[in-house]
Amino acid sequence: MITRADGARRAELAENLAGLRAQIAAACLAAGRDPAEVTLIAVTKTFPASDVALLADLGVTDIGENRDAEAAGKAAECAALGLSLRWHFIGQLQVNKAASVVSYAYMVHSVDRFRLITALGRRATAVGREVRCLVQLNLAGDLAPAAADAASGAGQGGRGGAPAAEAAGLADAIAAEPGLLLRGVMTVAPLGEDPVPAFSRLREASAQLRARHPQATVISAGMSADLAQAISQGATHVRIGTALLGGRRAFVR
Ligand SMILES: *Cc1c(COP(=O)(O)O)cnc(C)c1O
Repeated sequence: MITRADGARRAELAENLAGLRAQIAAACLAAGRDPAEVTLIAVTKTFPASDVALLADLGVTDIGENRDAEAAGKAAECAALGLSLRWHFIGQLQVNKAASVVSYAYMVHSVDRFRLITALGRRATAVGREVRCLVQLNLAGDLAPAAADAASGAGQGGRGGAPAAEAAGLADAIAAEPGLLLRGVMTVAPLGEDPVPAFSRLREASAQLRARHPQATVISAGMSADLAQAISQGATHVRIGTALLGGRRAFVR
């Protein structure tokens, strides 16, 4: 049953989605790229499963979430509705959430330490799934990672991400781990800095990684505020929340 509220929300999401697709197309044109190379991940954190269902109806196939409890609930609700979606886990992940995350995640973007790799691999193998993984890198300019986290205002362990020097080791470990598939790299641009240098470093890290692991073609970069810059630096996956769904309550990252 479609209520009037659903109809209004659907129209709002449709308009935002059309605007976003146009923005992606313009950024691709400026960068000399084909829009088909860029996958839109709708980041639905803090928004209800009904929004995910509307987005799915509008043709969105990839959904991003950053908290396990919220993601697990929404993935289950959407599965019960018969929706077939790819769930991307994009938030900081604790080892004790690995079992839950591998039960619904198509791709985990936030793999930044060895303990997480073994935990995800063991749990994925246990349930007979293969989970795609990205190495999350922290590529803030001159700041040390701890300072960068403080500067980003991320708090509580920060936005995560390994230093670029650890990328090869983490990638090799993912590639060697049964149950996991190495697919590429991810970053969150440092807040309050020009995002282009960080995205450019991510592109370099991706090129180095692909020399060893040709299948690791994913570059996950770009949010609502820096989507064009990310596309200019080769992003293959953009993670968009606010520009598609509207503002979130301020305390939720
Ligand atoms: C929330 C979030 C996004 C989306 O951010 P918007 O600015 O709302 O587009 C992208 N990536 C990560 C890791 C996030 O946590």
